[in-house]
Amino acid sequence: MKTKLLILFFSLIILSCNKAPQFSKINIVSYDMKVKYDTISRNLYVNSSILLEPLKQNNDKISLLFLSLAKINKICFMNKNAQFNTSYKFDKDTIFIDVPEQLQNNKKLSLYLEYKLSLDLISDKELLAVARSGKWCPLQYDNFSKWKIEIETPQNYIAYSSGDLIYSSIDNNHGYFIWENDYNLGVPLIITPKNHYSIIKKIIDNKEINFYFVNKNSIIVNKIIRELYNSFHFYNKLFGDYKHKQLSIFELDDSGTDAMSIETFIVVHDSLFLHTNDPLFGGNLWISHEIAHQWIGSGYTNTFNTKLSWFIEEGLTEYVRYMFIEDNYGKDSLNAVFKQYKNEFETQILNTNDDIPISSNSSSRVIYIKGPIIFHYVRQQIGDDNWKNFLRTLYNNYYGKVIDYEIFKSELSKYDPTGKVIKRMEELTEMKGILPIQF
Ligand SMILES: [Zn+2]
Repeated sequence: MKTKLLILFFSLIILSCNKAPQFSKINIVSYDMKVKYDTISRNLYVNSSILLEPLKQNNDKISLLFLSLAKINKICFMNKNAQFNTSYKFDKDTIFIDVPEQLQNNKKLSLYLEYKLSLDLISDKELLAVARSGKWCPLQYDNFSKWKIEIETPQNYIAYSSGDLIYSSIDNNHGYFIWENDYNLGVPLIITPKNHYSIIKKIIDNKEINFYFVNKNSIIVNKIIRELYNSFHFYNKLFGDYKHKQLSIFELDDSGTDAMSIETFIVVHDSLFLHTNDPLFGGNLWISHEIAHQWIGSGYTNTFNTKLSWFIEEGLTEYVRYMFIEDNYGKDSLNAVFKQYKNEFETQILNTNDDIPISSNSSSRVIYIKGPIIFHYVRQQIGDDNWKNFLRTLYNNYYGKVIDYEIFKSELSKYDPTGKVIKRMEELTEMKGILPIQF
């Protein structure tokens, strides 16, 4: 029997902002969640206590992102041990919750929710919907919150999440795991049969790297470990010390998710392992990109839907990976990558619907091709040392914070006193139809 891997994940998406004005998007201060997975019914049962930020004005409704497939058994506000029942409505993957009149001026609102998710509805191919646009617990992206998740699994199952595992025990019937962390980008949860993964542990620069894989091909696994090792070391030197003790990387063999990275936690679909035989620089395109997100995006991120957010989040991450290629495989390899993507642009993007300016802030493939070219231009203009200082400043001053383009620009302008380079960079992001710089 094929062992089933269950993963719930949400990550970076572009959110459409068409909320009616009477609703208030509300940030979350802290979560306390108890999660139980029942293998027989394939249901995930969740009890969630959520401390909310005070309402900015008198709102009779609040909204949170939340998977509409959740079946809610109980929802109420809590205030000084008193319960206030409430009602709610889903609209796509947003939940609108009525705030009882007597709580509308309240400074400390907390929300209590009990719900279940049927994994049959969101497993396998449909899992992609959960990963990319659904949220298995209510959240906003641009917030900061402390998480505590207690997970109970059936015997012989094990749970993984990001952050610090502060407690785990396995008795005859169940496994218990408690994770705590500060997050700004969401909460991953993997529940899997105990022997599903083989684990390789590596120490790199005093950090513990755990690789959870199912692939039995040792040539492929060793290649990936090597790429992981080298790229982690490179970024650790480039940006400054990785801010966590641990990083875990999971191979997914039962979901539609490609690859994503949040603090301390990377998942990658095993179909991407097939790319490891790429003749260029040893392949493994995905891993050094996802590792770089531990310093960019997962490390700090700009608010979604603000100017040039995809350019910074993905274009810069991809360019930093190019710097790794240059360092590890040499200048020729860097030029080969630029050439390869130039060809990809001309044959697959030019004159198609994907040929849009990267300033239009979509997740189009063009971001990954033009973004690095533009950042390469910026680096050449301001000089290598300035460029590296700029990257270090972003990481060390803004780690765990949400930044927008204005902050990004003001940091960059310290190395561009006349403003000419930034002006040109902005112009280049607005172009379409041609590559910004010719190589
Ligand atoms: Zn990425």
